[in-house]
Amino acid sequence: MNLLELRHVSKNYATESTPVPALNGVSLNVSEGEFVALVGRSGCGKSTLLNLAGAMDLPTSGDVLIDGQSTSALSEAALTKLRREKVGFIFQSFQLLPTLSVVENIELPLLLAHRSGARQSALDRLGSVGLEGYDARMPYQLSGGQMQRVAIARALVHQPRLLLADEPTGNLDSVTGDSVLELLLHISRQHRMTIIMATHSREAAAIAGTVLTMRDGRFVE
Ligand code: ADP
Ligand code: MG
Repeated sequence: MNLLELRHVSKNYATESTPVPALNGVSLNVSEGEFVALVGRSGCGKSTLLNLAGAMDLPTSGDVLIDGQSTSALSEAALTKLRREKVGFIFQSFQLLPTLSVVENIELPLLLAHRSGARQSALDRLGSVGLEGYDARMPYQLSGGQMQRVAIARALVHQPRLLLADEPTGNLDSVTGDSVLELLLHISRQHRMTIIMATHSREAAAIAGTVLTMRDGRFVE
C-alpha cells in the first residue's frame, strides 16, 4: 500500500482579493521507503504540497491519504494525533526552540505525545546524527549544520513513518548541505524511512530515488 497518496489535489489560499492557486490537480503515490525530491522554483507549490502531505493543512479539493486515511475526513484532534505519531518535519530554518537545550528540543515531541523514556530516546537519536555529547548545549552554541542535525534527530525521535523536509539545506553552505543530504540518504537506507524533500536545487534533488519537477502547482516532465 502507498504510505502517501494525493488524488487530484488542488489548494487555493484564501486572500482578501482573489484566491491564490498553489496546487492544481496533483496526483502522487509514495510507497514505504521511497525517497522523493520535489524540485522547482520558488512559488511552484513545494511547501504547500509538503504541508498537505503532513496533514498540517487540508486540500481545497481532492484527497490526501496518509497510510490510507483521508486527512479531510479526520477531526482536528485526529489530525494532531496523526501528525504526532506518523510525521516528522524538518525546515530550512531548523526551528529549534532557543530556550531549550539540544536534548530538550529532541525529546519534546515524545513529551507532547506522552511517551515514556523520552530522555534516553533523545540521547540515542542525538548519537545517531553524529552529535553525541552535545546534549546540554543551547541551540545558539551550534553551527548551522549541527542545528539541522538536531532538527533531524527531533523529527525522527518518535519514529514517524514519513519524514518531510522543506529546503533542508537552504540555509547551509554547500559542504555542510552535502553532509546533511548524506545523513538523509543514510536514514532513508538504514531505516527504510519514507522521505519527501522539497528543494530548488537540482543537485540536491539528485540524491533522491525519485525526482519530481514542479511548475505552477503541477508536476512537469
Ligand atoms: P514553494 O514552496 O515552491 O516556494 P509555496 O507552496 O510556498 O511554494 O507557494 C505556492 C504559491 O502559493 C505561491 O504563489 C505562494 O505565494 C502562495 N502561497 C503560499 N502560502 C500562502 C498563504 N498562506 N497565503 C496565500 N498564498 C500563499
Ligand atoms: Mg517553500
